[in-house]
Amino acid sequence: VVKPGQSSAELGTGFVRICAVLEPNKTMRRSIPLILLCLSVACAGGPKEHLGPGVLDDVPPLRGLQPLATDFDVEHYVLELRLDPGRRRIDGTCRVRLFPLVEGLRTVNLDLVELEVESVQNAAGTDLDFAHFDDRLRIELETPAPRGRAVELSIRYGGSPRKGLWFAGGDPPTHVFTQGECEDARWWFPCQDHPSERATSELILDLPAGWSSVAAGELIESREVDGRRFDRWRMHAPHPAYLETLVAGELSEVRGEWEGLPLTFHAPPAFADRLESSLAATDDALGFLSRLTGRRYPYAKYATACVQNFPFGGMENISATTLGVAALREARGLADRDADSLVVHEAAHQWFGDLLTCADWSEVWLNEGFATYCGQLWTEETEGSEAFQLAMDDTIEAYLHGDSESPRPLVYGRCRAPIDLFFGGHVYAGGASRLHLLRHVLGDQAFFAGVRRYVGENAGRSVVSADLRAAMERASGQDLELFFEQWVLSPGHPQLDVSWTYDSERARVLLTVNQAHDLTPGVPEVFEMPLEVELAVGDTVRRQRLELTGRRELFELLADEAPRWVLADPDRWLPARLRSRKDASEWLAIAEGAGPVGRRRAMIALASAARALKGEARAACGEALASRLAGDGRPEVRAEAARALGRLGGKLAREALLSAAVGDATPAVRVAALEALTAVGVDAEVAELGRSAVQESLSWNVVAAGARLVARAEPDGAAAWLEAQLSASDPGLHGQPHASLLPALVDAAGIKARARLLAFAQDPLASEPLRVVAVSQLGHLAAGDPELVAALGRLLRSNLGRLRGEAVRALVRAGDPDAHRILIAYYPSCVSPFERRAIEQALQH
Ligand SMILES: [Zn+2]
Repeated sequence: VVKPGQSSAELGTGFVRICAVLEPNKTMRRSIPLILLCLSVACAGGPKEHLGPGVLDDVPPLRGLQPLATDFDVEHYVLELRLDPGRRRIDGTCRVRLFPLVEGLRTVNLDLVELEVESVQNAAGTDLDFAHFDDRLRIELETPAPRGRAVELSIRYGGSPRKGLWFAGGDPPTHVFTQGECEDARWWFPCQDHPSERATSELILDLPAGWSSVAAGELIESREVDGRRFDRWRMHAPHPAYLETLVAGELSEVRGEWEGLPLTFHAPPAFADRLESSLAATDDALGFLSRLTGRRYPYAKYATACVQNFPFGGMENISATTLGVAALREARGLADRDADSLVVHEAAHQWFGDLLTCADWSEVWLNEGFATYCGQLWTEETEGSEAFQLAMDDTIEAYLHGDSESPRPLVYGRCRAPIDLFFGGHVYAGGASRLHLLRHVLGDQAFFAGVRRYVGENAGRSVVSADLRAAMERASGQDLELFFEQWVLSPGHPQLDVSWTYDSERARVLLTVNQAHDLTPGVPEVFEMPLEVELAVGDTVRRQRLELTGRRELFELLADEAPRWVLADPDRWLPARLRSRKDASEWLAIAEGAGPVGRRRAMIALASAARALKGEARAACGEALASRLAGDGRPEVRAEAARALGRLGGKLAREALLSAAVGDATPAVRVAALEALTAVGVDAEVAELGRSAVQESLSWNVVAAGARLVARAEPDGAAAWLEAQLSASDPGLHGQPHASLLPALVDAAGIKARARLLAFAQDPLASEPLRVVAVSQLGHLAAGDPELVAALGRLLRSNLGRLRGEAVRALVRAGDPDAHRILIAYYPSCVSPFERRAIEQALQH
């Protein structure tokens, strides 16, 4: 799964359809004693009368994740479903074939939340006793079933799922999609909902006429009868329930092909003309990943279905990835970010996640770390090593940020809901940075041989970190016990303080490396890792590899003369914080001659070094930054130079920024320059530049940065000008340019923007992304405004998940007693872990 926009601010929240009845369904038939039912009602945690400050009593305790404990193995599901979009309802039958793992199996327990079970029958058509409570369907078999003999059960059920299966695209809905990860498959069908339970599946669908469907595996039958559409899908490859998938609706389809494999792309018709341009990387990605893993793409087809109102960015459903339509961008959206990394990430999951699945959610780094690293390896393949090094530098920084906030090992299972484990920096960025480090330790040949061995040996299986270790050890011949102990199973990361001096008499560089991280229980006192060091001596630049094995180490490196620079970890292999003491002249040399990671580091260092300098020395720093901004080959370095110049200030900085803001070829650099100009000092010239950036509309991020610059530079006229821009344009499919202009409108107009924001936030016909931005901005204005707080509270009834999640965050931000009362009243009915965690945090503080 990928979160939308890959930024925590836009982190997806589950969709919830607020039903009139919020209590969990309890169903009882025949011989189940009534007393049992009553007990289960008392324990089920429905809405309580007196929430008040005691609302947190409802917070489930942290739990550790357990391996699946079961006395049967599901072999096959057949889901026969009729979709009723008008009532947002499903009805149908789930047939389950399973094999007892014990002698004399009497009871079958399946996961199922809230939906109503009408009957359960065995293969002979005999009604069986069952009870449905505590999110479990407990079925009593007629006679004890012998070990190993198939048991078939047929469960008639139906209802309006509050998650797991979503109706989308407006009112009435135009399409439907499912989202099972981590524990939401049980919200749309009865199943053994654990990542280590794999079964084959069939979907038999009864759809409104004019709808089409996308599901796992192959479409084996499709016909129209009496104004309804009937589709039958079958998936031969056993897979966990969370990867079961259904997308159906009024969808356009584009077909393609990769080496004989059918590719299909689906989207609501309004987005259809963007499918080919936005998802063009798909076939090359499948070829790349097949080579990387040593195993051809493993399923009968690969579909990508794009849906509206998707709570995440993408989800790797087996053989049929689901993406949010946010991936389908027009030119100005593509200029900010294309969908390639998302496409590669989800395609990579077809191997890492679907073919090999983490055995439980504490090991989910094996899914997400690999998918994230494959995205970076794609960057290396298509854009070269400089882009790759910078991407890994960002990835490692994201991990370090997360681990500094809350240190924990990669393998970790304490949570309230498994999805809570995903987005703290450890699973995606931390996982990718560990694989990157392993590649550094083993070298390319052994590492990639290890990847192929890991895939080859574990295809179709559940995996844990020890499986990866075993494959890598066999491929490399190295003992990796300590590596996995330190980097996968222990919390924390090293802080490396690196300094050097030159001993001219002995012609040696004396390099000190100090592992300076705090000594915290559980965190290794000494992390072992190879450290690459770059020395620039005269005209030559050379590398030396050192092995770090101590808390404080001194290395002597031969050098005929004093190096111009000595740079530790110049290509960014290590998931470590690095602190180097250098003077400005060394950073100037690095800025001029080192690789992209070093040059970017030098931008940050020069801005802070310059602050302590005066006269020519300070000017030299400013000139180096300006020269990088004007001419560095990497946009990431140019953008960092722009930010550094913003901190440095002065006439030279202003000139350089003005020039980059209109002239740089890369929108992200223009954005950095426009933002930095607000710090350097604003006036009429700068305001004019902001206005032309908005009107030129090179990309939506440029529009947003230009608009904010206008708001800052012209506090008097900006609001009216921005209002005029909003009125003059129609919001497109993703609510642009409005979504980019609203933050600036709030900057300029403050509370006067309230009516405009509220109109967008409440408009049922506006696109969800625009409404989300409007709600997010309202969060800044809502404290102490009971009417506004109440309006945000009403949005909690929306069936748009991201809108509702943003309303929760806006109320959390408002933070006044009215907002808290609304959140407290909402909490017991809330089924989104993200919303629940946000409310818990707000109320605990
Ligand atoms: Zn993912």
